[in-house]
Amino acid sequence: MNSIDEFAQKSKKENYYSSTIEELSKLNKKLNAFNFISSSNTLNGFLFSVKDNLCVKGVETTASSKILKGYLPPFDSTVTERLNKNGLSFLGKTNMDEFGFGSFGVNTETPAKNPFNDKYVSGGSSSGAAIATSIMRYHIAIAESTGGSISTPAAFCGVVGFTPTYGAISRYGLIDYANSLDKIGIMARKSEDITYIFNKIKGQDNYDTTCISNNFTKENKKKIILIDQLIEGLDPEIEKEFMNFVVKLSEKGYIIEHKKLPFIDKAIPSYYIIAMAEASTNLARYTGFKYGFKNNDFSQNYNEFFTNSRDMLGPEAKRRIVLGTFVRSASVKDQYYSKALKVRTLLINELSKLLKDGFILSPVMPIKTPTFEDAKKLSPLEVYKTDILTIPPNLCGFPHISFPYSYSNGMPLGAQLVTSHWNDYALMEFVSEWESSFNYNFKYNIGAL
Ligand code: GLN
Repeated sequence: MNSIDEFAQKSKKENYYSSTIEELSKLNKKLNAFNFISSSNTLNGFLFSVKDNLCVKGVETTASSKILKGYLPPFDSTVTERLNKNGLSFLGKTNMDEFGFGSFGVNTETPAKNPFNDKYVSGGSSSGAAIATSIMRYHIAIAESTGGSISTPAAFCGVVGFTPTYGAISRYGLIDYANSLDKIGIMARKSEDITYIFNKIKGQDNYDTTCISNNFTKENKKKIILIDQLIEGLDPEIEKEFMNFVVKLSEKGYIIEHKKLPFIDKAIPSYYIIAMAEASTNLARYTGFKYGFKNNDFSQNYNEFFTNSRDMLGPEAKRRIVLGTFVRSASVKDQYYSKALKVRTLLINELSKLLKDGFILSPVMPIKTPTFEDAKKLSPLEVYKTDILTIPPNLCGFPHISFPYSYSNGMPLGAQLVTSHWNDYALMEFVSEWESSFNYNFKYNIGAL
């Protein structure tokens, strides 16, 4: 049974919501999962949280950026509206890397900490969404991924993270990072919950012309494809654990096949060129005039005014404005941006051929969960490179799911399964089968009944 139906059937203590919020707020002081938590008297159903880059009417929405402090959206995102209509209850806004820029959840004023051990990062950019899912018994998180922001934090925090086919869930009300890549998705403690929520929020929306109601397939392929170039650079411990998992799958009857895809390493540069180009145009709207932070000092000259306003952006956002503006400037556009688009098309074609035959499986990250200390030592380029496994499906808009497959030194390890466009439900079916013989661990169970 999914958690939503189970929750509806269980009897709740009279002060269920107030005691849950109290416990959550206390733990949140330590982990920084939430930017905002609702007050208990507004709650009455199964709880959902929303990544802080999705608009909730009248609730401060900042995408964890200082430049959006105080922004109160006058409308609800389509996803929030659909969940409310279905009787779910809005719990709060979750922490994230500023505007979605990052892989470890550290590009925010208050970095979110891993619930298994707070010396470790929680993964990003949907850091808070993954922590909330990991610490709460009856809850689902709405998150968003551009290049891996659902898979990575889900893996580091030991929960299931689903990124649908591009266009399956409306992006209306999302603070865009890169429109041609952004997908809204779901995190939960089990795959059945994801299926339930996906059914409620997917489908055509007149406010988002890229969102359609398509016919889904559900081909649970019996073949698992491992791409050699993706497996080659793994941390030795990750490689060992992952290959043990692959053996378990072959014992369950899956056929394992190795394939080579030499140019898969072009996915990272292409992704970052496209993502930064789009991000740099999206960030142009934050000028200290209209949304959130207002610069009221009109004694400054033109340059001073905008320089001071834009200084509210964090270092990673500034880096992306500079690089994104460069790659799409007239003199170098053909060298970078246009080429990146061609690589994306090539990858979609080549990977689609492979996916006709089977699922693509890999770990989520090539490295073990870093401590904050370790993460600090990585250069921006080194951080971008850790996205090697999550970027291909995101760049191509393929649905994928991240789920715990093992634990090492008390920390969860996540695998990522990818399938063809619109075969989303097969992912949940696969993970559900896995869950029938593997128990996930959680350190907290806030709101348990
Ligand atoms: N780490 C990637 C980036 O910074 C992906 C983040 C995301 O999916 N929002 O672009």
